[in-house]
Amino acid sequence: MIKRFILLLILLSILGICGTVSATNIDIDDSQKYHLFENTIQTSDNDITLETSISNNSNDNKNFSSTKSTNNELFVRFRFENPSSSPIALNLHAQVNATVLNDYTEISGLQLVKIPENMYLIDAINIYSQSSHVLYAEPNNAYQISLIPNDPGFNNQWGLYNNGQIVYGLWGTAGSDINAINAWDITTGSSNVIIAVLDTGIDLNHVDLRGNLWINRGEILNDGIDNDGNGYIDDYYGWDFYNNDNDPSDDNGHGTGVAGVIAAFGNNSRGITGVMWNAQIMALKFLDKNGYGTDEDALRAILYANKMGAHIINNSWNGGNYSKVLKDAISKSNALIVCAAGNNGMNNDIFPDYPASYTSSNIISVAATDMEDYITYFSNYGISSVDVAAPGINIYTTRPGNRYGYFTGTSMSAAFVSGLAGLIKSLRPDLTNIQIKNTIMNNVDVKSSLIGKILTGGRINAYKSLINVITILRHPRILSTDPAKEEVGVPLNKVIKIYFNENITKGINFKYITLNNAKGKSIKIQRSINGNILIIIASKLDYGTKYTLNIPAGSIRNVHGNYLRSKYSYSFCTVSKYSTFLKVQNRGSSSIHFIYYAAITQPGMKTIYKRLSGTLNPGRTTSINIGKHPLGTKILLSEYIYNKNRYMRTINIKNIFMRKKMKLLTQKIYMKWVKASPGKIYKRPVYTYKLIQITSYGLKIRIISPPHRLRN
Ligand code: CA
Ligand code: CA
Repeated sequence: MIKRFILLLILLSILGICGTVSATNIDIDDSQKYHLFENTIQTSDNDITLETSISNNSNDNKNFSSTKSTNNELFVRFRFENPSSSPIALNLHAQVNATVLNDYTEISGLQLVKIPENMYLIDAINIYSQSSHVLYAEPNNAYQISLIPNDPGFNNQWGLYNNGQIVYGLWGTAGSDINAINAWDITTGSSNVIIAVLDTGIDLNHVDLRGNLWINRGEILNDGIDNDGNGYIDDYYGWDFYNNDNDPSDDNGHGTGVAGVIAAFGNNSRGITGVMWNAQIMALKFLDKNGYGTDEDALRAILYANKMGAHIINNSWNGGNYSKVLKDAISKSNALIVCAAGNNGMNNDIFPDYPASYTSSNIISVAATDMEDYITYFSNYGISSVDVAAPGINIYTTRPGNRYGYFTGTSMSAAFVSGLAGLIKSLRPDLTNIQIKNTIMNNVDVKSSLIGKILTGGRINAYKSLINVITILRHPRILSTDPAKEEVGVPLNKVIKIYFNENITKGINFKYITLNNAKGKSIKIQRSINGNILIIIASKLDYGTKYTLNIPAGSIRNVHGNYLRSKYSYSFCTVSKYSTFLKVQNRGSSSIHFIYYAAITQPGMKTIYKRLSGTLNPGRTTSINIGKHPLGTKILLSEYIYNKNRYMRTINIKNIFMRKKMKLLTQKIYMKWVKASPGKIYKRPVYTYKLIQITSYGLKIRIISPPHRLRN
């Protein structure tokens, strides 16, 4: 798909340049002025005014779309009771960095946890589900109403949702729309996305727009000072480059219509909805009330949009000759430049129409389709110079003065594409202009009337584009590792396997994948890939050593060419050469039942837990293997002795006994005897005496006598 598109791009640029050359011989408009595409076909009689008064609570539903955010919460039900006090549960939560939100005493073992924002729910579910201690893990589903907006004019907005309804006296074919309904299940936009509208201005007071208008936070309105030092005084709502003042209000109506298609405030129970329900629209007026402007005004507006951080610039205007200055400004712009193809019914490949026909790679040029997915009679086209098509006839949108009405022209089509680009940007702010443009172009609905007319032969499909963003443009992710993170006792001949969510290939930084020992020294490894698995084979691993595997960003790609986005690094510890034993001897006169919880922390690793238990008759000794742990391991033993009463004592031991040929040692151990149940807890040191003997590679506890009841 990528290759095909590169081919198209090459074709586009070759033919585009030819078109540019031929343009010097064809004067479309000597005046070097721009004009609007629209035949504003309605008279004021035809204006459909949905609102006669403005109520004060227009933003009541402003936060509606937030209900569809995912909450990253999971129900986890363990097979045992009281998971809040279980090391097993704590260990599992630690693996996914989960926070416990709630315990449910009514349902045994059930907890509600929150996982980090940057983790996929499905990954957390996998980790929990793989544990034999977990009965199930499932998402805390957030329910929402279907995302059909409640704006009363929505039924007229066939470009967003066409079910064959009659609009402005015409009826269309169901499905001849940009499939906004389904797209909105994925995102309805974001107020982080800034879309500049270079046009006749925008009605700054329109109730269906003003909540989505960009304002310059660095500027104090009407203090006569250029507070943010951008060269424009009091540019709070944008700028009027035609009249050189700070009021980009709309004295024509065209810009207000364009803005409404892009991002009229959605689901606010009034008027219409934009392709984006939420956005920041930057009002940049450079066309006068008759729709005329100059190269210089357009240039300053583009430079302003760039300086102020616009992500997308909508250009629903055309005319004039090739301008090297404008071409340069567009090519250097950080924004995606969306351009209307023009309304002359002409072939832009032969008769270039600027700015749509500039060959800059960040331009996307848009033709107009009707309610049956046919290219409109007026729309310009061009198999190499026009990229996509979008609805452009009888488009119901905002008009100045809190009114609504119909517009026709490729201006509206461009606005639909700007809105879609904004939705994509909302979902994935990191995508480049070219990626956004490719996404829109690669996910059109191909239509017979458009094949041979425009480059992609299709009308944009917002849903397909967003699905594509979610699936195809996703960066590879690591699902699990073997050995696991912080695993101890890893065999020396272990083949390290890193499992990704999809098939992978080598990235540019592949050779910088390293395995370091505890001293940070990189050891020799072989790296290879098999399907979705990165395989690391180390030449030689040492006993009882902590190793850290570093997988740098860019070292792995998925089949779509997207790189591993951030560095991944984790540690594990190899098996120790020697086992640690706990020897318990009952020197008392009655039998005891003992339980040890060993919290074992190998150097630099996470704590793991072991439960050791048994029954000892008087005079007997038993030996319990605590596992192979390297020098420097800390072991915290919690000891429960069941006799007539239940007691617990905590013994803190630093494992400094792993030296070879260590002789029998005797060490003073300070113990705390704690009455564990029922009721009160006592914490005071009771004994200080020589109880523990450390043998070579072993740990010996001799219980002189069963603990006896403490006095209050
Ligand atoms: Ca300023
Ligand atoms: Ca609305």
